[in-house]
Amino acid sequence: MKKKYDVAVVGAGIVGLAVALTAAKQGKKVVVFDRSPRSMGASIRNFGLIWPIGQSAGANLDRAMRSRGVWLDLAEKAGIDLAENGSLTLAYHDDEQAVLEEFADKSLENGYDCALLTPSEIAEKSPATRTEGLKSGLWSRTECTVSSRQALPQLAAYLEEAMGVDFYWSRAITHVEPGHVSDFYEVWGAERVYICGGQDFETLYPKTFAESGITRCKLQMMRTASQPEAWKLGPSLCAGLTLRHYDNFADCPSLAAVDARYDLENPFFKQWGIHVLLSQNSFGELIIGDSHEYGWDVQPFDQADINREIMEYLRTFAHFPDVDIAEMWHGIYPKIPGKTSLVQEVEPNIWVVNGLSGAGMTLSFGLAGEIV
Ligand SMILES: Cc1cc2nc3c(=O)[nH]c(=O)nc-3n(C[C@H](O)[C@H](O)[C@H](O)COP(=O)(O)OP(=O)(O)OC[C@H]3O[C@@H](n4cnc5c(N)ncnc54)[C@H](O)[C@@H]3O)c2cc1C
Repeated sequence: MKKKYDVAVVGAGIVGLAVALTAAKQGKKVVVFDRSPRSMGASIRNFGLIWPIGQSAGANLDRAMRSRGVWLDLAEKAGIDLAENGSLTLAYHDDEQAVLEEFADKSLENGYDCALLTPSEIAEKSPATRTEGLKSGLWSRTECTVSSRQALPQLAAYLEEAMGVDFYWSRAITHVEPGHVSDFYEVWGAERVYICGGQDFETLYPKTFAESGITRCKLQMMRTASQPEAWKLGPSLCAGLTLRHYDNFADCPSLAAVDARYDLENPFFKQWGIHVLLSQNSFGELIIGDSHEYGWDVQPFDQADINREIMEYLRTFAHFPDVDIAEMWHGIYPKIPGKTSLVQEVEPNIWVVNGLSGAGMTLSFGLAGEIV
């Protein structure tokens, strides 16, 4: 047997790294394995948004805010570029404005840090917002942005160099049992194991995944080149379609009218789960998405018509200097409908931690703090 550890983590996405960080902070000797040469899964394919505003009030919002605190701390300690740029959710229709008003009315008592702004106040905050037909917008202070492709390797390097965590890259863990993990060739001792394998449901404890109700969700994404002359987006932007995407708006009585109108105007949006977010990374590039296709067998191919619809809807609320798309990709995250995570002890001291769906960047540190 090779080395012995207190904690072994399978998967170096944001969930695995959050678990590793939490265990290392407790003074545990930690090892992380990933089958890829570097983090290449959902965690580097996302918008880089820490998005507490999207969480339902109560435990999920609290978890998101605790995560946010860890991100701010890491930004300083690990040198991760993090913008505390907030977010704007824009309303161009009466029904959308009604949802924002209903949400804003209860936002303080529900623990959100946000306010409704007029079109001229929005124009001051955001050069990218289209003001024609704009009725109002929800400004939220809590959202932050990181450049995921840099932040994940920086976080892994920080764990290795400053926290003494060992990393084994290009090692697929093929077997786990109480006290041990192994790849095809070697065995490591581990008192506790966390399996944070993202969308790999087939290698370890496949029955647990099959029985959990988990599924895959595929999202199509795009990126522009760096915007010219250091153009700044300011707050991350979204609009009416996003109202029906995140849980925070679910209880607003007017949401049904928004939902029905979009279904009538463009059923393609719901068919492919399209809502549109715009974020900017530290290189000035704009990240644009996304769609949501569900199933264990999501298509390996990307659809041009989905990207076209995303860009068309984006143009209804945002404008920016360079609209050329430099890159397109898709990412896949695991989701259990109606749940925000899958945390299950599958054998003594062996835990599956998965299913953070579209909020892994927002929730992982908070969740890890509760379960590790
Ligand atoms: C396009 C897109 C946009 C998103 N935008 C946001 C956002 O802006 N904000 C937000 O909060 N969330 C966002 N999300 C969600 C977030 O990215 C995910 O919830 C999160 O990345 C999931 O992290 P993970 O660690 O579970 O998975 P992953 O990042 O996929 O990592 C899993 C890792 O496990 C490894 N692995 C699997 N099996 C094994 C094995 N047997 N042995 C060794 N290694 C193994 C894989 O190689 C992989 O590196 C987005 C997701 C997508 C796809």
